[in-house]
Amino acid sequence: MMKNLILVGPPGAGKGTLAERLIDEKGFMHISTGQILREALANKTQIGLEAKAYMDKGELVPDEVVTGIVMEKLSEDEVRTKGFMLDGFPRTLNQAELLDEGLKKYGIEIEVVIYLEADQDTIIKRLSGRRACRECGRNFNIYTMKPQKEGVCDHCHGELFQRDDDKEETVRNRLKVYSDSTAPLVDFYKEKGSLKTFNGNNDLNVIYSEIKNVL
Ligand code: AMP
Repeated sequence: MMKNLILVGPPGAGKGTLAERLIDEKGFMHISTGQILREALANKTQIGLEAKAYMDKGELVPDEVVTGIVMEKLSEDEVRTKGFMLDGFPRTLNQAELLDEGLKKYGIEIEVVIYLEADQDTIIKRLSGRRACRECGRNFNIYTMKPQKEGVCDHCHGELFQRDDDKEETVRNRLKVYSDSTAPLVDFYKEKGSLKTFNGNNDLNVIYSEIKNVL
């Protein structure tokens, strides 16, 4: 079975939601740098406070900071035995190269890079409707993936909230940052032969079963 995966795609393409479902079913470890940074910020750790200014503007947190987070995860035995799904990392070519070095150290590889392609309309709709759980980080959508009870997480009953960086102006910047810094990763992984492309505009249930067929 394939086990070490990367999810690449613009913000709002469905990475987080798909990762949540896949890890529930497949038992991978989920490594979402965005989620780890939001937790660090909520706990007011040094890294969280350092990252805040970048996240608020929709800018990328420096490569060393996020790569450090991922390397710490990879150093955990459980992560390497169960396999992992990287969600939102790497986001620059430099991060991808640093990741390769880290993987080499442990003698492991990325088997598949899942690329979710999505157009602007889909992205805006998913991001403006997105609500995340303050406790467990799960995603919902007030238009397309409603929680059973408004404002409350189905899984842990935590409070749902709109991320600051899902506001319109920040979203615009995140999309620009994506096309400038992250989109080049698609060619990088295509050349390595590990890229599988999915149409992120489709219903998430459809994408989910397509991805499962590939894994
Ligand atoms: P996400 O939840 O993946 O949309 O990430 C939210 C924010 O966290 C991003 O807009 C960045 O500010 C920061 N972030 C998350 N992952 C990375 C990364 N790999 N490189 C740089 N910044 C990141």
